[in-house]
Amino acid sequence: MKMISSDHHVYAFFPEMEPVLEISPGDRILFETDDCFAGQIRSEKDLCTEINFDYVNPATGPVAVSGAGKGDLLGVTIEDVEVGKQAVSVVVPGAGVLPGRVGAPVTRTVMIDAEKGTCTFAGITLPLKPMIGVIGVAPEEGTFPTGTPGAHGGNMDTSDIRRGTTVWFSVRREGAMLALGDCHAVMGDGEIGCSGAEVPAKVTVKLDLVKGASSPWPLAVTEKEIMVIASEDTLDQAVASASEVMTDLVRKGLGIPFEDALILCSLSMDLRIGQVVDPKKTVRAVMPLSVLPWEKAKAALSDW
Ligand code: CA
Ligand code: ZN
Repeated sequence: MKMISSDHHVYAFFPEMEPVLEISPGDRILFETDDCFAGQIRSEKDLCTEINFDYVNPATGPVAVSGAGKGDLLGVTIEDVEVGKQAVSVVVPGAGVLPGRVGAPVTRTVMIDAEKGTCTFAGITLPLKPMIGVIGVAPEEGTFPTGTPGAHGGNMDTSDIRRGTTVWFSVRREGAMLALGDCHAVMGDGEIGCSGAEVPAKVTVKLDLVKGASSPWPLAVTEKEIMVIASEDTLDQAVASASEVMTDLVRKGLGIPFEDALILCSLSMDLRIGQVVDPKKTVRAVMPLSVLPWEKAKAALSDW
């Protein structure tokens, strides 16, 4: 299996990204990732206000996928997210959803027990839910710092981007240029304080390529669900964008009129918040695969 170390990383997704290496669809690859602070915060004495913000959210990569071109769909199946022993989490005045309630920056460490599958914070034991915060491909145009989410992926901070999930991206540049990082040992939907349990990790993925298919927003397919992940300036906009793509997927995939697809979504689709602090808001529209099987969704994506 090929490996790419965290020394090879980017701080932005942009059209002319140069690959560190090239791999083929079907191959597996291990990405070593640094935490979102690039290791600048290691103890509770290291404060978020004292680090260099030019070096946050490093994403390891990019990797070129041979044969991937514009108008294809890249599938990234997350086979494993192995997190380090210690995570850090911070709050800072002026950030997060309660910006006025934090008087001074605070850093806390979160100890991880990988064998037990738990971590401990404030004397409370939490189940580990390792996830990838930043994962994306080169955009068609523009430069997106790795701290920002968008149609290319990026800092979606969506807790379903975890082991067992396949994330699908429209390829917008030759080779796709996949990069990922910013893993969290655990994070609640919303990430209201502005950080998860930020941790270095080893991420193993397997790549897949569907020729001649595309999606306006990244998709995630878990064991039981398919989701559209949209990031917009407001939650209302993100709700509308994710809902519209899911409704059209259902319409085309099941071959039913728009109005019926909308009713079906109203009956069985869930909206979940990814994050609300990055600073765009990320929402996922989630449908059971028992309603919209992946094969039908994939067929719908082939003539988007
Ligand atoms: Ca993040
Ligand atoms: Zn993070």
